[in-house]
Amino acid sequence: MSRPKKTSVPELQSQLLTWFSRHRRAMPWRAPKGVRPDPYHVWLSEIMLQQTTVVTVGPYFTKFIQKWPTVQDLAKAKQDDVLAAWAGLGYYARARNLHKCAIEVTQKHGGAFPRTIEGLLELPGIGPYTAAAIASIAFDQPAVAVDGNVERVVSRFFAIGEPLPFSKEAIRKGAAELALGNPHPGDFTQAFMELGATVCTPRKPKCVLCPWREDCAALKKGIAEELPRKAPKPEKPVRYGKVFYFANGRGEFLIHKRQGQGLYEGLYQLPTTEWIANRAAARRLPPPVKAARLESLGAEVRHSFTHFDLILEIWTGHTKNTVLAGAAWVSAENLEKYALPTLMKKAIRLCSQGKPAKTA
Ligand code: SF4
Repeated sequence: MSRPKKTSVPELQSQLLTWFSRHRRAMPWRAPKGVRPDPYHVWLSEIMLQQTTVVTVGPYFTKFIQKWPTVQDLAKAKQDDVLAAWAGLGYYARARNLHKCAIEVTQKHGGAFPRTIEGLLELPGIGPYTAAAIASIAFDQPAVAVDGNVERVVSRFFAIGEPLPFSKEAIRKGAAELALGNPHPGDFTQAFMELGATVCTPRKPKCVLCPWREDCAALKKGIAEELPRKAPKPEKPVRYGKVFYFANGRGEFLIHKRQGQGLYEGLYQLPTTEWIANRAAARRLPPPVKAARLESLGAEVRHSFTHFDLILEIWTGHTKNTVLAGAAWVSAENLEKYALPTLMKKAIRLCSQGKPAKTA
């Protein structure tokens, strides 16, 4: 991998650490300069930050820490309460694993997170990236944590033209070359990510402010903003279904707890049909409970999952049925107590507002 100026790696590391010591942002989970980070805070933030932005995570992190100040407190919580506090962050498997992990750390490790990558990898919900991030940030262990920000910096620094995901291995090697052997692994990991988040941004990177500008191959070639290239993604399949808003005339509507395993497991939802590939067939699917006066609201809610897009048509109607497991009649005011995915909240909002536009 080439670069225009051959500054030594220790010198590059020192440049980045100096830059970070001046420009580090305050974050709710970040320990102040010179203070040892709390591994519980590091772990919680790293799980929340997967596929979610810093701005979104901030209030959730603060809420969790106030509600459950230690990992032992979180381990004692009911899973329903953890899911309710998580509601809106998406990717709910993270919340279920978060709770399982807190229990395991408490029961098997006496409330102390393992300090090594190998030990961390044995915990639920912790993959190679998160293990490396926790080991380095919380315990100052040498480790290379490659998130999207680091991926972008490295692709540009070495001008790696191969598109993602095929360039992952080259990026990992480049990141290791730049990171390993540095004297402050915890700060370095955060600095690397911070450079990508604030300077080496996806659009209009602020190269003039970058501590590595003299060695950056993409800047030299004038292709920084083009990188990293991405291979086109295959089109996602779409699934269709119906979602039912059954009101009881007392300002309440029916929700129930989704059973089984998989997406939305353990979360509350409006009753729905199954989700299938054929749109016309989906329109003919019956509700999961006996119901009367069924009427389409003429609106849909949409959500993009990792492997498919979902479109649910909203229907209203009446039912006396409470055979659905975990069923409850709730009002909009006390909905906060229940963990509902954003998709369901959107459908409820549309129904409570009356006849909506065609799509949400
Ligand atoms: S010089 Fe520009 S493109 Fe290169 S690493 Fe720095 S910010 Fe990114």
